[in-house]
Amino acid sequence: MILDTVREMAREKIKPRAAEIDEKQEFPWDTVTLYTENGMLTPLLPEKYGGIGAPFLLFCMIVEEIAKVCASSALILIAQADGMLPILMGGSEALKEKYLPGFAKGKLAAFAATEPGAGSDVLSMKTRARRVDEKYIVNGEKCFITNGSVADVISLYTYTDPDKKFKGMTAFAVEKGSAGLSYGKNENKMGMRGSINSELFFDDMIVPVENRIGEEGEGAGNMMAALNTSRAFAACQAVGLAQGAIDEVVAYAKQRVQFGRPIADLQAVQFMLAEMEASTEAARLLTYQAARYLDERNPRLTLKGCAMAKFIASDTAMKVTTDAVQIMGGYGYMKDFPVERMMRDAKLIQIYTGTNQIMRLVTARELFRA
Ligand SMILES: Cc1cc2nc3c(=O)[nH]c(=O)nc-3n(C[C@H](O)[C@H](O)[C@H](O)COP(=O)(O)OP(=O)(O)OC[C@H]3O[C@@H](n4cnc5c(N)ncnc54)[C@H](O)[C@@H]3O)c2cc1C
Repeated sequence: MILDTVREMAREKIKPRAAEIDEKQEFPWDTVTLYTENGMLTPLLPEKYGGIGAPFLLFCMIVEEIAKVCASSALILIAQADGMLPILMGGSEALKEKYLPGFAKGKLAAFAATEPGAGSDVLSMKTRARRVDEKYIVNGEKCFITNGSVADVISLYTYTDPDKKFKGMTAFAVEKGSAGLSYGKNENKMGMRGSINSELFFDDMIVPVENRIGEEGEGAGNMMAALNTSRAFAACQAVGLAQGAIDEVVAYAKQRVQFGRPIADLQAVQFMLAEMEASTEAARLLTYQAARYLDERNPRLTLKGCAMAKFIASDTAMKVTTDAVQIMGGYGYMKDFPVERMMRDAKLIQIYTGTNQIMRLVTARELFRA
């Protein structure tokens, strides 16, 4: 029933806006309102905080349905989950009660780890937090943060004790409007142009002690758990994108006539579409399996499962959307059809939440782990 509602919402309300928000690089506030009114902004949130307590598998399917028509709009749901999960997984009950209900009612969340000098090597981050009495003073910066400048609450990663490395990182829930928080540019991007990515600056930013997520030193564990989970979300976004491109191409191939017959009759086109469909289905199964590992709270299988799903699904989405443009020929290259946008959107998924090279590293490390 939930997926039927999502499909209808995607078809009736989100698809018609997809080209426009891409072209204008516009954050779709109307889509945020649509999600909020339909209880879809934060499906993973337990009912006691105002969500529907969706299992990860259902959330992944919701993201997939939206991504079929607009990957940027799916990214809004993913960024919301990414920003909310660190508090849900590691925050005190008081912190959860302070912020989680708002996320179901339209307040936006963000997850801020990456810095200009710390991307794949995220543990080399330079942002520091120093405790003074009942508050922390934070200095540093973050970049590329999805929802960054529109988020009401940011899950922020810093070092409180950099000498302790992994055990010296601490996370905070930072409110928009905090003294010392400012915003740089919103990025001008190749794809996913309906989402916002921002620079954040912290200049003696003050964060109250009660906004610390967990204890000092628990930040890196929290960050890794959130990032790992998010890889399953990225994977289902990729599966949705790939399926959306296939749907567009099948419809086009049936009506595009060359040499006196629809190109759908050409075996060369049929074979390409068969490959696209089979690889998308394979990616979907791997992705659903990763979501099941998350639901089963199986940390060992989850790490490898989410990494594999992420790189297989996003590499598949990249290939499938590129082939979709190819099958549609010159029309595929034009903005009158959605497949060129899908191809640009797919590229991001090979990069964010850990590049696909890093995903292969994680997978290999798990293979060789005793
Ligand atoms: C649109 C967008 C949205 C994003 N949203 C967020 C967000 O909401 N929050 C957030 O914290 N971050 C976000 N990011 C950051 C994203 O997670 C990083 O861009 C990503 O982790 C890669 O880091 P980097 O860009 O610094 O690349 P680099 O780490 O500089 O990597 C450059 C290249 O080197 C390769 N490489 C690096 N190290 C290795 C290695 N050890 N082995 C093999 N290859 C390696 C990489 O795979 C890549 O090809 C976002 C990024 C983008 C583009």
